[in-house]
Amino acid sequence: MAVTVKSEHEIQLMREAGQILAKVHEELQKVVEPGITTFEIDRICERLIRGYDCIPSFLGYNDFPASVCVSINDEVVHGIPSKKRILREGDIVSLDTGVIWKGWQSDAARTWAVGEISEEARKLIDVTRESFFEGVKHARAGNHLNDICAAIGSYAESRGYGVVRDLVGHGIGTEMHEDPEVPNFRMRMKGIRLQPGMTLALEPMITLGGYEVCWGDDGWTVTTGDGSLAAHYENTILITEGEAEILSLRSSQGES
Ligand code: MG
Repeated sequence: MAVTVKSEHEIQLMREAGQILAKVHEELQKVVEPGITTFEIDRICERLIRGYDCIPSFLGYNDFPASVCVSINDEVVHGIPSKKRILREGDIVSLDTGVIWKGWQSDAARTWAVGEISEEARKLIDVTRESFFEGVKHARAGNHLNDICAAIGSYAESRGYGVVRDLVGHGIGTEMHEDPEVPNFRMRMKGIRLQPGMTLALEPMITLGGYEVCWGDDGWTVTTGDGSLAAHYENTILITEGEAEILSLRSSQGES
């Protein structure tokens, strides 16, 4: 599939989708507390998304049974919400969710601390988020895809973190996953030349250990191969002639 360039009208709808998703994440952050089950987080997430007249894009995607992936500690991505999984003080939890607004998609993930967390866990969350912004700096028309990939990967690796290779970011539009794939590490090829109107989901998945991951028996949950903590940070962005626009971060918000 060719990489699509969105029209101004389509971009506006993706912008609206992104702003809704940003608000959903802000609301979800407030419920991340010791004692809540990941099932409850999913119930809240679905209610929020439908409250904005959106469709939860994850629900039913390849038969995924929930509206949000909730991945705790060594779980990297795709954790399935469950009544049996309870957040505990000291955990880190990644929430990855998406919305469909008037046929247009937005996809974003955040990793939060549950109560007080260790210094190294805090640092992991920060470096993961920072590596995303490092990628964004290189996401502009005229650059190549690999400029983004290399920037994300080298930011995290040069600080001693593991960069997951088996899962990657992606183009996004009317489909959640469109071309191109956006790895979080330097590729051998330059990749496509970026054009204004391309929309991408950049999503570094970073670990305190190595880059290897395992797939769980549930067919979904991806964990670190070495049991180390993992964090995930993702936004849907728009390529422009200048700085990329981060569609799924509230316009009023800064880097934090
Ligand atoms: Mg994604």
